[in-house]
Amino acid sequence: MRILVLSDIHANLTALEAVLQAAGNFDATWCLGDLVGYGPDPNECVQAVRQLPNLLCVVGNHDAAALMQIDADTFNPEARSALLWTRRQLSQESRDFLSNLPEKLEVDRVTLAHGSPRHPVWEYLLDTRTATTNFDFFDTPLCFVGHTHLPVLYSQHNSDHLARLNIPEPNQAVPLAERAILNPGSVGQPRDRDPRASFAIYNQKENTWDYRRVEYEIDAVQKRMANAHLPDRHIQRLAAGW
Ligand code: ZN
Repeated sequence: MRILVLSDIHANLTALEAVLQAAGNFDATWCLGDLVGYGPDPNECVQAVRQLPNLLCVVGNHDAAALMQIDADTFNPEARSALLWTRRQLSQESRDFLSNLPEKLEVDRVTLAHGSPRHPVWEYLLDTRTATTNFDFFDTPLCFVGHTHLPVLYSQHNSDHLARLNIPEPNQAVPLAERAILNPGSVGQPRDRDPRASFAIYNQKENTWDYRRVEYEIDAVQKRMANAHLPDRHIQRLAAGW
């Protein structure tokens, strides 16, 4: 079974289409949340994700905020203005889909969450100490998360006090440790200074993680954002990948 692992699409349909094209054949799709927020294509992205084969999807903080489950004032001013725009755009169909997404899922050997297994919607796994603590909050061997928009791999080894942090090389399938927390990076708004869309293929049988990057037409997305009067800083950051 080849599973396409997506996260943080952020209403960027051009990036999502490039990822789907680059992914090749896959049997199932696991989506780690934040389908909307920041980008110009919220309904189109929800629609495209819904049609992916054998989809499992958890809710992200931006999805929850777009449904008004989270107060817009907890976001910075630009994120807030993008959020209010997204709220106005979302169709009833998109809202229904997003509002039915669970916060956390367990499937076979993997736990899926947007932020972390401990606080699925909001916690950022940005350092090894936080990651190490989070290994106590899931029962499966593996946990897949998004939220930071940074592709990383944390692994736990018996003799170590701290989890090990690895930044994988793109386009190389790596064998997975017995216990690991993995982040495929962001499809629609990468933040590791590489503007290419990020995703991963998890090969369940081989137990490998194949993390990949793919170019997409960033300027086409920036034009749609400008036409929608979305914040300038969000338009600029796409090209720089932060
Ligand atoms: Zn996000």
